[in-house]
Amino acid sequence: MKVEFLGGVRTVTGSATLLEKGSLKWLVDCGMFQGNKENEERNWNVQPYQAKALSFILLTHAHIDHSGLIPKLVKEGFRGKVICTKATVDLCEVMLQDSGHIQEMEAEWQNRKGKRAGKDEVPPLYTMEDAEKCLRYFQTVNYDDILQLADGVKVRFQDAGHILGSAIIEIWVEEGGQEKKIIFSGDLGNSDQPIIRDPSILEEGDVLWLESTYGNRLHKTREETTQELLKIIQEAIAHQAKVVIPAFAVERTQDIIYTLGQFIRKGSLPSIPIYIDSPLAISATEIFKRNSDCFDQETKDLLSGGENPLEIPGILYAQTTEESKAINEDPRPGIIVSASGMCDAGRIQHHLKHHLWREESHIVIIGYQAEGTIGRRIVDGAKTVRLFGEEIAVKAHIHTLGGFSAHADQKGLLDWISHFHNPQLEVFVNHGEEEISLGFAQLVNEQFHFKTMVPHWREKKVLFGVEEKVMLEEVKEKLPPEEQFFVLFRHLDRTYKKLRRKLKREKKRGEEIYDLKRLRQLEEVSKKLEELEEEL
Ligand SMILES: [Zn+2]
Ligand SMILES: [Zn+2]
Repeated sequence: MKVEFLGGVRTVTGSATLLEKGSLKWLVDCGMFQGNKENEERNWNVQPYQAKALSFILLTHAHIDHSGLIPKLVKEGFRGKVICTKATVDLCEVMLQDSGHIQEMEAEWQNRKGKRAGKDEVPPLYTMEDAEKCLRYFQTVNYDDILQLADGVKVRFQDAGHILGSAIIEIWVEEGGQEKKIIFSGDLGNSDQPIIRDPSILEEGDVLWLESTYGNRLHKTREETTQELLKIIQEAIAHQAKVVIPAFAVERTQDIIYTLGQFIRKGSLPSIPIYIDSPLAISATEIFKRNSDCFDQETKDLLSGGENPLEIPGILYAQTTEESKAINEDPRPGIIVSASGMCDAGRIQHHLKHHLWREESHIVIIGYQAEGTIGRRIVDGAKTVRLFGEEIAVKAHIHTLGGFSAHADQKGLLDWISHFHNPQLEVFVNHGEEEISLGFAQLVNEQFHFKTMVPHWREKKVLFGVEEKVMLEEVKEKLPPEEQFFVLFRHLDRTYKKLRRKLKREKKRGEEIYDLKRLRQLEEVSKKLEELEEEL
């Protein structure tokens, strides 16, 4: 069993791992790199993903940093199955096409600039059409069902509590008569997150990929966080100002809608305009309503009591550009929720341009802001940021509310891993910025004595199983017969030498101890060797 770390290591984006069992190859996640030029270059060279040779892609969830390169791989010849939950397929349908649209716009912009500089045209990474085409390869799996994917490979998807449809993936691999279990935590959610169920608890495993986005941080409680948000909104109302919330279209937006709905249902907030300004978020909210089987008990109870937690009085959806522009003409105090969540694309940039410089406005950051994004610069206290070629002063109140995060914090991650009882568990710490992953890996090692490792990009490893055996299997398929003989003889030679060394050691020991049980075992070996000799 071999693995290659293709992304989401020592960084939060581009999640992808290549797994190989003999000639069978597959990926777990196939995410896009985002937020940093050097990393984004990797999106263009997908040759290491071996698109044509892959049998399937197991997809933990719909976020672009996990799914965003699937259209690119289909373009490069991937014809296997993408296996994920139904809600993930529904979300990918809108999110990948949205991503294709962004890629087209990006290329158009580059080309306009390039033309003036006399450069050749560049094609987009992939188009909306490519994204649409890739959907035909998706196949759904129910949570908890065990799916046999190939000889000696079974998988099961369990709740990850991160976004709608998100999963932890368990993979059982049989090799050399032994079965081992590999687990990908995917992105793990907070246990008190509304709407969706909490992450499933797992206890057994041999190798674990564990995310570490917030491996160094503790979130405030949900209750404290919602109270903080309420106060911010009340203050904005008192000053006739606006609250701007950059939010990922999926999950964070619905979480905010749910939370604002709770304020209004409880009467702690008057009915004020709440703008959801992101066509993707509007589609995602519809998908949420269609996948209510993924909801937690509290949300199901609300639904059966006749309340729709995703529909609240005062909510206004802006679908068109005109509707989006009209928001900034509304003089009333209100709330604007818009994407992208890291402020580096989309309509949120217009709202930031409109509000960042206003002292009375409030900007509320609720999601993870990757290095290199505009959102990160705002959080880090930049005095100005560049938007649409203009330098905009940052004078508004900036708030960061970690408690709305879709990721477990350090305590949540440690709690989750504490249930594993195999002392031999090997842990690959991934999906985190380098320093954070390294620190968290050390912490896990100190607390649970599990062997931890923070892999590098493109690093390869052999999991349980002798490297040579894996090589031999490869040889069987790829090499011409004469070379197969050569490799096989070398292997026989090595095995014979190893056996000689063992026998010598045994002989020495046998001169010192006279153990009857051992004698019988050696008799058995001797008989087998004679048989072998005859066979040869
Ligand atoms: Zn995610
Ligand atoms: Zn992620």
